[in-house]
Amino acid sequence: MHVDVPAKVQEIYAEVLRRNPGEAEFHQAVHEVLESLAVVLGRHSEYAEMKTIERICEPERQIIFRVPWQDDAGEVQINRGFRVEFNSALGPYKGGLRFHPSVNLGIVKFLGFEQVFKNALTGMPIGGGKGGSDFDPKGRSDAEVMRFCQSFMTELYRHLGEYTDVPAGDIGVGAREIGYLFGQYKRITNRYESGVITGKGLGWGGALVRTEATGYGAAFFADAMMRARGESFDGRRVVISGSGNVAVYGIEKVHQLGGTVVACSDSSGYVVDESGIDLEVLKQVKEVERARIAEYADRVDGAHFVSRGSIWDVPCEVAMPSATQNELDGGAARTLAQNGCQYVVEGANMPATPDAVALFRAAGIGFAPGKAANAGGVATSALEMQQNASRDRWTFEHSEARLEEIMRGIHARCHETAEEYGAPGDLVLGANVAGFLEVAEAVHAHGLI
Ligand code: GLU
Repeated sequence: MHVDVPAKVQEIYAEVLRRNPGEAEFHQAVHEVLESLAVVLGRHSEYAEMKTIERICEPERQIIFRVPWQDDAGEVQINRGFRVEFNSALGPYKGGLRFHPSVNLGIVKFLGFEQVFKNALTGMPIGGGKGGSDFDPKGRSDAEVMRFCQSFMTELYRHLGEYTDVPAGDIGVGAREIGYLFGQYKRITNRYESGVITGKGLGWGGALVRTEATGYGAAFFADAMMRARGESFDGRRVVISGSGNVAVYGIEKVHQLGGTVVACSDSSGYVVDESGIDLEVLKQVKEVERARIAEYADRVDGAHFVSRGSIWDVPCEVAMPSATQNELDGGAARTLAQNGCQYVVEGANMPATPDAVALFRAAGIGFAPGKAANAGGVATSALEMQQNASRDRWTFEHSEARLEEIMRGIHARCHETAEEYGAPGDLVLGANVAGFLEVAEAVHAHGLI
């Protein structure tokens, strides 16, 4: 069968647009992957014949459900819950739950789609999925969060299982929420099925390094990328947006690797601290007190808070967007390039817009896509599942060494694949092609399902 490759890719994209109206983030994520896949179709006509790409773009199952709960004032609240079980060719669906008012089906599909390739890149036996709710945990009491989590799991539990679908955290879902979700799953099913959810507390099946994993992993990936160019973090100025799990532990590892993180942010603004972000203070403000980032500047001499403008106005050599999707646009990318930025490493999922990515590529700035650079979190979730399955507990050192090995391995694979497919240094193409080939081979082997 002769295939006109660019036309074929256009046709697949047009069909995705037609079937999924109004889902801008999902379209964006699919488009970015499809752009890289023309080179693959040229070499694998069997994937065109069996509509392998088309099948991978269509989630295996999409679940939407009502989540009713009562707030502290006794008022009834109704939220919407989602779980998109995207692809199970490589293992049980695996991916986080996001609780944020912006969550809708399109957002969950974009995240689930990215997760499929990300999980494949880790080399671990995990498929891809994602879920969440438009519930906003901000300003809610512990009791309200618990009642919400219990109601959410009362529906979701029937779709989960350690061999079926294994959620974890994401934005708005941390150790506290995982605890309430696991507790409800255990109560309903009467099974202590540790491997049904990851990101658990250390005393009840959780794994060391899981909390730090995404941030540490992104820093390891950045380090591998710099070393491929004969460079390192040593003495470099770094800006990391966000102040959640990814950013906090990204800062910790960048400091250990010799860089200095001079700015971080939350939804209210950003702080600049030229002597390097003080992690103790940051953790106290964001993790313990769940307060605004401005508090950091009030407590640290020489630091200042900025409520307007963009964190990407702060000059740096390495930028690690680690807050949320599309937080870094073309204008911000131009500013970064003008200020001498040399590397951009995505700690969050798809934080750079397509304009921004195009600009980085044109400017010769090293760019690491999230599906490769932030895979450390889900990879360590797979290590948590492995410990749960063998009723074992690994040390911090062992787990961190495994994480580092996995991240350097992902970098090497993306780097080599980019070369093999005629685009040396293009980690976007490398990640998309390497991730796709891993999934496509398994999908193809399983027949028409
Ligand atoms: N939410 C994280 C991600 O985007 C982690 C998912 C997991 O551990 O399953 O990859």
